[in-house]
Amino acid sequence: MIDNYRHIIWDWNGTLLDDMSLNLAIVNDMLRDRGLAPLTVERYREVFTFPIRDYYENIGFDFSRESYEQLSLRFVATYRSRWHEIKLFPQARRILEQIQASGKTQSVLSAHQHDTLSEFVGTFSINNFFQHLIGLENTYAHSKVDQGRGLLAMLPHPEFEVVLVGDTLHDAEVAEAMGVNCVLVGHGHQSKERLQQCGVPVVDALSALLD
Ligand SMILES: [Mg+2]
Repeated sequence: MIDNYRHIIWDWNGTLLDDMSLNLAIVNDMLRDRGLAPLTVERYREVFTFPIRDYYENIGFDFSRESYEQLSLRFVATYRSRWHEIKLFPQARRILEQIQASGKTQSVLSAHQHDTLSEFVGTFSINNFFQHLIGLENTYAHSKVDQGRGLLAMLPHPEFEVVLVGDTLHDAEVAEAMGVNCVLVGHGHQSKERLQQCGVPVVDALSALLD
């Protein structure tokens, strides 16, 4: 599935990093604090989207009564205090090793704030797999399109040699805006059924990428 490409751009959250449960736990605590109904896993995977602000509004947060920026900062601080609870997906390290051994190169393009991303990837001791770690300039998670285009400009490859692997419809949008192909993995923040609506290949698990 990724055999024909020379560079793989990885999304981080929900693609290599299995952090859906922590995201759900934090957002449910914030909902309960406001007297709002918590989400089930299924509901979360149906409503999670980018920009994050839209997803928050859809599940009941009212930004005429509180600041999105404050809520976003609180989420990031809580996430950071609990990130020791999160693991990579079981096959992630082996896949990264196999891709590297095949002579392909790899990068990460994440909606995390850039410095946080570098620190976080470092805690798993996998930095050596990646040529570039690209995050956003702030914590508000609006869009990865500009950073994706910037990353592509740094790579010594034409678009057709690059593939983006992600877990959300936004990853497919980013890939399209960059002019590169995309593969989505249905084990993250959005349901496989939802991902299949956008017309790019969807696999169940990382291991299927090497088939
Ligand atoms: Mg993701």
